[in-house]
Amino acid sequence: RHIPLPKALYADRKNTSGIEFGHRESLAALLKGMGRNDPFVEAVPLVPGLKPTGETKPVHSPSAPSEKVGTIVWAEADAVGPAFEAARKGFQSWSRRPVAERAAALEKMADLIEENRAFLMRLLSDEAGKTLDDGLAEIREAADFCRYYAVQARKMFANPLDMPGPTGEDDRYSWRGRGVFACISPWNFPLAIFMGQISAALVAGNAVIAKPAPQTPLIAFEAIKLLHKAGIPEDVLILLPGGPELGAAITEHPLLAGVAFTGSTATARAINRTLAGKDGPIIPLIAETGGLNAMIVDATALPEQVSDDVVMSAFRSAGQRCSALRVLYVQADIADRLIEMIKGAAAELTLGDPSKCDTDVGPVIDAKQWQMLTDHVAEMRETQTVHLATVAPAVGTFFGPHIVELDKPEALTKEVFGPILHVVRYKAGELDKVCDKISASGYGLTLGVHSRISTTAERIVNRMDTGNIYVNRNIIGAVVGTQPFGGSGLSGTGFKAGGPAYLLRFALEQVVSVNT
Ligand code: GLU
Repeated sequence: RHIPLPKALYADRKNTSGIEFGHRESLAALLKGMGRNDPFVEAVPLVPGLKPTGETKPVHSPSAPSEKVGTIVWAEADAVGPAFEAARKGFQSWSRRPVAERAAALEKMADLIEENRAFLMRLLSDEAGKTLDDGLAEIREAADFCRYYAVQARKMFANPLDMPGPTGEDDRYSWRGRGVFACISPWNFPLAIFMGQISAALVAGNAVIAKPAPQTPLIAFEAIKLLHKAGIPEDVLILLPGGPELGAAITEHPLLAGVAFTGSTATARAINRTLAGKDGPIIPLIAETGGLNAMIVDATALPEQVSDDVVMSAFRSAGQRCSALRVLYVQADIADRLIEMIKGAAAELTLGDPSKCDTDVGPVIDAKQWQMLTDHVAEMRETQTVHLATVAPAVGTFFGPHIVELDKPEALTKEVFGPILHVVRYKAGELDKVCDKISASGYGLTLGVHSRISTTAERIVNRMDTGNIYVNRNIIGAVVGTQPFGGSGLSGTGFKAGGPAYLLRFALEQVVSVNT
């Protein structure tokens, strides 16, 4: 039996500070700092020695599409070559810097993230539609990644290990950076995941070419500028904002030494194919992809708690988390009552301007996602029972939370990234069948279990390969260094972000044996 050790909580790093939204002065100061378009962000590619040449395009807010919240000049394909040449040079000196120096730069960055919290939260709200709660959580996660990987790098990389061996030989085992890493990040955590990938790659001794999602270039641009300010040289960290074609050109480049990617399973596969088709060394891909995440609720669960946890897991962040709940399996005996409670709780959610403090759910990221969700609901309506929990505002890409009662779980075959919860009823005695069905999807990111019988929960946990399993709680918001995050199967390659093994994927081992 697992006996938890007493936790020296964050003994080796400073915890991030939050804001008490109930404290009027703190909230007022935050909202003042979030003032729209002040300063106005004009994002451009950041490649040393290269002037941006492309057209300046507006960036619009998903919650107010007529408002211009910044501008962007996309990187052209011909910037990829110079970016790699510069980064390769940057890598030579960066990889030789003491680990302590690289770690200190990340810790400085964590401080800068906290100092610029209001400004960064504004960009998260403007460009990604993040609510205040979500924005604050994201700021904290981004800073936590920096500090956690700084501590891990010092522990793992700072001192070469003396290996035991026969007398007369010195055997030294150490880690070093791999070269130029591509960090390709998603729009749903445009600061936290962006920073998580980059900070891990940098502290392990790599140079980085960062390609943020095309929906969220502004926050990426500001984060890279802060990293430069924190002491990362400009040729060690390069920003190439652009779409999938640019991503393909980056992954095809011969100087590429590794890829950290978070996004869809299909794109991860495409990257994997590109890497496999290249001549030269076989290089690593660290991919965090999607999930068809389930929660199993048996008849002993506490309905009020389940209802809260379901609404949070399925609808918070407008369901736009890889970890979000997609399919709720509920024991038939309590299903009617529980579904009514969930509908009632979801109906209470306020959708609207994400920068207002009474907003629970912001917009979905863009019109394409909105259309995909609309089409999915229309398709489900043909054969299943569909409830709309809350009506969405008409302006902006808002999508009302939906609950779909699935008669046949087979009707849902893919991840639907947004605020749509599917519910399946199961009969007492069918628990193993439910587990098999969940596993058969091939995904393995998050799983929730609600039961007051601990042996039931244990039985489920033992059967499943899911990367993150949550018992008697919600299934989102993994905490850096406490709940290392990442899945198995179609959900990703590992190692887990915010976990003790992650940095190893970014580094090369070396052993030097000296006959003395
Ligand atoms: N780590 C986030 C969570 O636990 C999800 C990250 C993602 O959506 O990729 O909710």
